[in-house]
Amino acid sequence: MKAAVVTVGDEILIGQITDTNSGYIAKALDKIGIGVFEMLSVSDDRQHIIDTLAFLQNRVDVVIITGGLGPTKDDITKKTLCEYFDDHLVVNEQVLVHVVALIEKAMQRPASQMNKDQALVPSKSTVLHNAVGTAPGMWMKRGNTVYISLPGVPYEMKYLIDNEVVPKLVTEFERPYIIHKTIMTYGQGESLVAERIEDWENNLPDFIKLAYLPAPGKVRLRLSARGTDEILLRNSIETEAAKLDGLIGDIIVGYDENETIEVVLGRLLTQNKLTLAAAESCTGGKIAQVLTSVPGSSAYFKGSAVTYATQAKIDILGVPKELIEANSVVSAPVAEAMAANAKKIFRADYAISTTGNAGPDKGEADAEVGTVYIGIATPTGVYSKKLELGQPREKVIERAAGKALEMIYQ
Ligand code: ATP
Ligand code: MG
Repeated sequence: MKAAVVTVGDEILIGQITDTNSGYIAKALDKIGIGVFEMLSVSDDRQHIIDTLAFLQNRVDVVIITGGLGPTKDDITKKTLCEYFDDHLVVNEQVLVHVVALIEKAMQRPASQMNKDQALVPSKSTVLHNAVGTAPGMWMKRGNTVYISLPGVPYEMKYLIDNEVVPKLVTEFERPYIIHKTIMTYGQGESLVAERIEDWENNLPDFIKLAYLPAPGKVRLRLSARGTDEILLRNSIETEAAKLDGLIGDIIVGYDENETIEVVLGRLLTQNKLTLAAAESCTGGKIAQVLTSVPGSSAYFKGSAVTYATQAKIDILGVPKELIEANSVVSAPVAEAMAANAKKIFRADYAISTTGNAGPDKGEADAEVGTVYIGIATPTGVYSKKLELGQPREKVIERAAGKALEMIYQ
């Protein structure tokens, strides 16, 4: 089963709003085994909408359209649907009762004609009840394609998808199951991971697909099985995941999509009753912010000293002035001294430090843009690593913080 999502609105095309409806719809359809084959955003233009509806007819099984259902002149989806379906608008009595009651309750005034016009729907459509707004959803069919028109307001669209569209699609169509499992790995790049699991990947059954979802420092592997036998799919996915664990168990940290390095690290520290501190320069508190975003982080995170100015590194962390002068403020010895001293000051088991140049220009330290040193102090010693993180500035800060947490994790 294939679907397409069409979002209508000039606002999207001029960049005034970002289309978030399509993503929500795609996830909801994926869960019930309907794959979204394409997403289109079109202007508030009659001909453009008609051409799009015609283009999709018999190309996909389901078209979901959002936007342009309001009562104002610029909202033309309904009129356009009539034109495409060779239909006319009629008052739907149930919608009219709902709209009048909703307006009276919310606005404390009688419904206007414009409000009442929301109850006009194409005569050939099946109405999808919108309990949270005035514009009903509409379900129509032409050729082998079902067209579903929904309001653009995300909150109303979501309501209709969850309560009307998904249940109706489930009963109207026989669909295959799609089962996913995501394997989270840390610390090795995509190509290395791919090399390690190459043989296994080549021998995957036809109905299981593997996707690599790389992000800085981590790779998520997503297994998707598609078919009609749900039990077989679930068992096969688990079998393959177990084989993967045998191959790359050393870098697998979990199976939860939302599991982040800070969550994994926090769990490890809590389990081992260990504590962590930081001394941050170029990351400006990002490490502290990321660590404290995890509930329960007070159990292991002692704090971070944001020593941005060189003098602050001397005064607050006690990094020797001579050490900075002999090297550079952006250097391995300074990163190591920062970490070692933070560990002592915060009385922590581990400490991380960052010193670097996030750009966009060469700073007073005269370090190359994107160069960052990460210092790590452990119960047994101190070491550091030099990273070249490129640009832009926000990326350097984010990657440096992420990398620092990964280094501690390993
Ligand atoms: P209304 O009755 O509010 O006019 P509508 O069905 O006519 O609803 P639009 O006018 O197209 O919908 O959009 C209303 C608002 O909903 C937009 O201003 C925007 O804030 C939001 N919206 C519309 N489409 C999308 C989309 N694809 N993604 C995210 N937000 C959207
Ligand atoms: Mg509108």
